[in-house]
Amino acid sequence: MQRDVDTLWHSILGEAQVVLSAARYGAFWSNLKLIQYDDEEAVFEVISVFAKAQFEKKEHVYLRELLEKNGVKSKQLTFHVQSSGARLRVSRETTNEVVSSAPVRQQSSSPISTSSLAQSGLNPRYTFDSFIVGSSNDLAYAASQGVASNPGTKYNPLYFYGGVGLGKTHLMQAVGNEIVKNNPGARVVYVSMETFGNEFLEYIRFKKKGFSEKYRSADVLIVDDMQFITGKEKTQEEFFHTFNFLHQNNKQIIISSDKPPRSIPTLTERLRSRFEMGMAIDIQMPDFETRCAIIASKAGLLDITLDQEVVEYLATHIKTNIRELEGILNQILAHAELHNVTPDLAMAEGVVGNVRLSRPHHITSKRVLDITAKHFQLKMDELCGSKRDKHIVVPRQIAMYLLRSELKLSFPKIAHELGRKDHTTAIHSVEKIEKAIKLDVIVREQVHSIQEKLYV
Ligand code: ADP
Ligand code: MG
Repeated sequence: MQRDVDTLWHSILGEAQVVLSAARYGAFWSNLKLIQYDDEEAVFEVISVFAKAQFEKKEHVYLRELLEKNGVKSKQLTFHVQSSGARLRVSRETTNEVVSSAPVRQQSSSPISTSSLAQSGLNPRYTFDSFIVGSSNDLAYAASQGVASNPGTKYNPLYFYGGVGLGKTHLMQAVGNEIVKNNPGARVVYVSMETFGNEFLEYIRFKKKGFSEKYRSADVLIVDDMQFITGKEKTQEEFFHTFNFLHQNNKQIIISSDKPPRSIPTLTERLRSRFEMGMAIDIQMPDFETRCAIIASKAGLLDITLDQEVVEYLATHIKTNIRELEGILNQILAHAELHNVTPDLAMAEGVVGNVRLSRPHHITSKRVLDITAKHFQLKMDELCGSKRDKHIVVPRQIAMYLLRSELKLSFPKIAHELGRKDHTTAIHSVEKIEKAIKLDVIVREQVHSIQEKLYV
C-alpha cells in the first residue's frame, strides 16, 4: 500500500516539477511528501513551518488540482512538519525503498551533520557525484571543484548565470555539501535572494534579531537567483555590506543569476563591480549526448535501465531544461512502476504529449495583468488607466503583448481587458514590443522574467 502511495506521489510530483517554476518547486514542493490518503483526508509531510503555512494558504489549490487529476479525492488536506532528523532522509530521487517515517528517522546520520545541514539550507542530494559534466557546464564544474577544495581563495565571488533548470542550484549546493563533508565545522549558508530580501524586510520592519549575524558569520555564503534583487534598493545596500564584510574576511561567496552582472537591471554600479571581481561563468543547455547521460544517470539512481531509444527520444524532444527533463522522466518511471511494466517509447511519447497539452491552462488575462503590474510596481488602475507617462506606457504595451503571445487573445479583446475601446493601440503596442524584444535587452529580459512568473 505504502509503495503504491509513494509511486503515485512520484508521478504527481513529476508533474508539478514540470509545471511549476524552479523557485516555487524547489522552495516548497520538492520536499513535500504524501504519507497516506483516503476519501476523508490526505496527509502530507512538509519540511518547515513556513512550508506548512504556504501549503495551507496558497499551494493547496494547485495541489488539490493535481490530486484530483490523479484520482485522489480526499476532502481534507493535512500538513505535518517533519522532524529535522527525517529531513536528511534520502530523498525520492535516490531511493525506491518504501519510506515510512518512523524507522527512517533513527537511521539518519550523526546529530552534528544533521543540524548543520538543516541549518545551512543545503539539500544533500545535490552533489558533484550526481552532476553530469558536458561541454555546456565543464567550466562551471571545474571552478566549483576549485572553490570546494580551497574556499575563499580562488574565485571570489564565483558567479554562475544561465536559464532556469540548467543546474546552477545543483552545482552551488554541491560546493556547499562538499565543503561541509570535508570540514563539518564550516558554516555554509545557502539562501535564495528572495528569502534574503524577505528576511531583511522583516528585520527592518519588526526589528527581528539575528539577520546580520546569520549572514556575516558564514564561512561560505551561497546566494541563489540574484536577479530577484532587481528594484530593491535597500536590500541591495544591505547585501553590498554583507558581501564586503565576508569578502574582506576571505569568506567564499557563490552567486547564481539568470543573467551576467552587467545585465541585471537596476543593479547598482558598486555591486556590479563586486560581482565582477571573481569569476562569472555561464551555464548552457547540455548538448544531446550530455542530455542522454543525464537521463540514464537519473534512471540509474533508481536502479532502472532505460532502453536507448527512450533515452534518445527524451533527449531529442526536451531541449528546454534539465528540470523539465527530470520531471518528465519521473512521470514515466512512476507510470511504469504503477502498471508494473518496463518504460517504453510509447509511454515516453504519451507523457511528453500530455505535458505539452497541460501547460498553459492556469493562466488568465487577470493573471497576466496582475503579474505585469507587480513586476513594474504599478497599481492595477495605473496599468489599465489612461496616463501616458513613460514608466506606465511601456509596461502597458508589454501587458498587451503578453495577452497576445501567451493567451492568443484577439486585439479587440486585448483592448477591452485594458479598459480601451479602440483596438488599434493594441495592435501597435504588440508590434512595438515584438520589435523591442529583438533590439532591446532590457525589454527582452523584462518580458522573459514576467513570462517565467506567469507559469509559476
Ligand atoms: P537551476 O538552478 O539552474 O534552475 P537546478 O540546479 O535546479 O537548475 O537543476 C534542475 C534539475 O536538473 C535539478 O534536479 C538538477 O539535479 C538537475 N540537473 C541539472 N543539470 C544537471 C547535470 N548536469 N547533471 C545532473 N543533473 C542535473
Ligand atoms: Mg536554481
